[in-house]
Amino acid sequence: MIVRRRTKIVATLGPSTNSPEALDAIINAGVDVVRLNFSHGNPAEHLELAEAVRNRASAYGRQVGVLADMQGPKIRIARFTTGKVFLEDDAEFILDAALGSDEGDSEQVGIDYKQLPHDVKRGDTLLLDDGRIVFWVKRIEDQRIVCRVVVGGELSNNKGINRQGGGLSAAALTEKDKADIIIAAKMQADYVAISFPRSAADINLARQLLREAGGRGGIIAKIERAEALEVIDEIILASDGVMVARGDLGVEVGDAALPPIQKRIIQHARRLNRVVITATQMMESMITNAIPTRAEVFDIANAVLDGTDAVMLSGETAVGKHPVKVIEAVDRICLEAEQQREIRVSRHRMDSKFEKMDEAIAMGAMYMANHVDVKAIAALTETGATPLWMSRISSGIPIFALTPHAETCQKVTLYRGVYPVSFIVDHDDHASLNKEAIDELQRRGVVREGDLVIITTGDHEVKGSTNALKLVRVGEMEEPKQN
Ligand code: PGA
Ligand code: MN
Repeated sequence: MIVRRRTKIVATLGPSTNSPEALDAIINAGVDVVRLNFSHGNPAEHLELAEAVRNRASAYGRQVGVLADMQGPKIRIARFTTGKVFLEDDAEFILDAALGSDEGDSEQVGIDYKQLPHDVKRGDTLLLDDGRIVFWVKRIEDQRIVCRVVVGGELSNNKGINRQGGGLSAAALTEKDKADIIIAAKMQADYVAISFPRSAADINLARQLLREAGGRGGIIAKIERAEALEVIDEIILASDGVMVARGDLGVEVGDAALPPIQKRIIQHARRLNRVVITATQMMESMITNAIPTRAEVFDIANAVLDGTDAVMLSGETAVGKHPVKVIEAVDRICLEAEQQREIRVSRHRMDSKFEKMDEAIAMGAMYMANHVDVKAIAALTETGATPLWMSRISSGIPIFALTPHAETCQKVTLYRGVYPVSFIVDHDDHASLNKEAIDELQRRGVVREGDLVIITTGDHEVKGSTNALKLVRVGEMEEPKQN
């Protein structure tokens, strides 16, 4: 294990990664988490892919998390008899909830969300196909939304519709999502992403459905509606992590509003002890080109400086021409950005009080890590809670989550600066445990004789709760008791 990049890479699977060779190649290029996009494909395909990813990862001795991303209530137009039409600027065009699904033409098209005519009013701006086409609503006639084409162009089947400013009433979890959550439970997805949540209640419901189906994964809230921003802290606290879903969010709030929102969401997530993924169009030009634009290089680096746990690739890996090259590019940009001093130090939450024992130990460890010349942190952990607390604090020090549980190994694949280590020991005296932990890190080539290492553990009588913090020098450890 060569420990290098702290920022994690989430890669969406798709046609470009479909062959066994392509899957192997992206796993070896350093993907930490794969995203299965439930807007495409069927349950059998998703189940098969999740299994293939885990098999291939373990064949290479790697831990790769699985994120099942629910489609959500994305509002879409239906289809055209000809597959697509061309809309002229200033023409009239009708979205008709009563029209058959395949009967669209250059004057009208159906919509799958039948409530839409009740949710919009004269004067609203509707954005289709991620904002490429713009409609202005002239009037509502029963089931029909009569629009003027403000920005025309080509419009093809099933393109998304957003209202500028947000506020469409569709519930976050559709019937399809509820069925897909059961699939996600079945594949034991490490994370389930919920699209378009409006409130903490949406997240709680998703978690309840997942648990009822036997799933133990974390819930990621995709922040992609304007109204989610108004209750952002509640949503963050209800989730295990959030995604800055810049695609849909940018359509609702306007692209220029995105940069400060991204910074704010990342900052809030870290403060509230949750993970955060920055997503969409990060390396868009690499869908076709072999190298990124300068702007894309800066986008990745800036997300790292903002403190994101992970950056996500969508079309770049799913349908792009260079899935391996894009991962290699993200890897090298993250590594370089992580050298910046401002993200290797921290104010250590100087002004806050710690509520939990494991939080206090984790914060103590990070204070120590940032003030002594420590090579590594070994967190012996059951649930991964302690390394999560640790990774909310900036430092350049690798945090190894040593755990006997496969589930915890996979969960921490998303945490910035945290590296999973499968660690199974059968005795419980502390000296042996510490020694084996250090031996394991030495075997992996991450520490050497003379290096300082921080170890956190729990007393074995109270399993699962970390309450001890130790600073040791490799090679100068107390010898285990002889039985
Ligand atoms: P999507 O979500 O790729 O599922 O649309 C991400 C986004 O909207 O940015
Ligand atoms: Mn989206």
